Amino acid sequence: MKYHIITYGCQMNESDSERLASQLEKKGHKPSKNKQAAGLVVINVCSVRQSAIDRVFGQIHNLQRQAKKPKIILTGCILKSDKKKLKDRVDEIWPFASLGIKPKCQSKTTAYLPIMTGCNNFCSYCAVPYARGREVSRKAADIIKDAKRLIKDSAKEIILLGQNVNSYKSRKTNFPILLAKIDKLPGNFKIQFMTSHPKDLSGQLIEIMAKSEKIANEIHLPLQSGDNQILKKMNRGYTAGHYKNLIKKIRKKIPDIKISTDIIVGFPSETKKQFQNTVKLAKEIKFDKAYVSQYSPRPGTAAAKLPDNIPKKEKKKRWQVLDKLINK
Ligand code: SAH
Ligand code: SF4
Repeated sequence: MKYHIITYGCQMNESDSERLASQLEKKGHKPSKNKQAAGLVVINVCSVRQSAIDRVFGQIHNLQRQAKKPKIILTGCILKSDKKKLKDRVDEIWPFASLGIKPKCQSKTTAYLPIMTGCNNFCSYCAVPYARGREVSRKAADIIKDAKRLIKDSAKEIILLGQNVNSYKSRKTNFPILLAKIDKLPGNFKIQFMTSHPKDLSGQLIEIMAKSEKIANEIHLPLQSGDNQILKKMNRGYTAGHYKNLIKKIRKKIPDIKISTDIIVGFPSETKKQFQNTVKLAKEIKFDKAYVSQYSPRPGTAAAKLPDNIPKKEKKKRWQVLDKLINK
């Protein structure tokens, strides 16, 4: 049967889809470029944002109206409450493709390499710890083996993936040591990684990044908010001052580093003044890029118990201010 995969989510979902594709092909299915010609459509979605879940409802509706209705499978990083709402609309729900599976890479030159899954941080707004479960690091030897294979398959850029790569731990190997090991592999390739949590980024990591020629001079370091009270309510485990200091340390060792970030606007009870603290910090830091998102409550998370009391219009206004400031 011909299959088609639709992915709504982050790089981790993209990487899951690559492993899913190879799993399906092992079973004898053939890829189809468009969903109309496929007998099997897999929707791989992430519950982190309400907008992705909304798109799934629309997509299922469209698929069911096709001349040839395909079998619809749902998979991904999905909250129980979203699963409940979607389960009667799809034919089956599948678990994640296991991390050990050799992926069918979409790009020949850029390769995703998951080093861990899940998260233990429980930021108050976030669905990931519920949808993906607790943090589990892969064995360093398995990751190195995968990296060697990717280099042999002529990958020019390896992107190491984890929700919080800085808390990677497998026996004696922490994240900086893992990076150093991959850095030593022979070949002409670049290394990137995401995401780094500011509370766990170590001096050792900065040292290894500064020394290495293969590790890209880029870091994605989500700020989420520049206001200490909001950061506390988000359960992020750092202050704006800590974040600023970290950036200073990184720029001192790696002057030409590109820094990107994630910011949430309109978190419950975020005042205009608190939002301005984020604007102020963004002006000081001068990010190269920011993924700004408007807060949406995710069922089951701690923040979902707080009133979602910033009007949609105000969230949008705050979004525009930051997007214009950083991305234009
Ligand atoms: N592990 C990463 C983030 C994973 S989720 C980290 O710690 O930064 C990706 C991004 O989605 C987050 O950085 C956040 O900015 C955004 N996000 C997560 N939950 C959200 C929610 N409920 N509403 C709006 N944006 C959210
Ligand atoms: Fe979500 Fe926080 Fe974990 Fe990132 S670190 S995945 S934002 S709980």
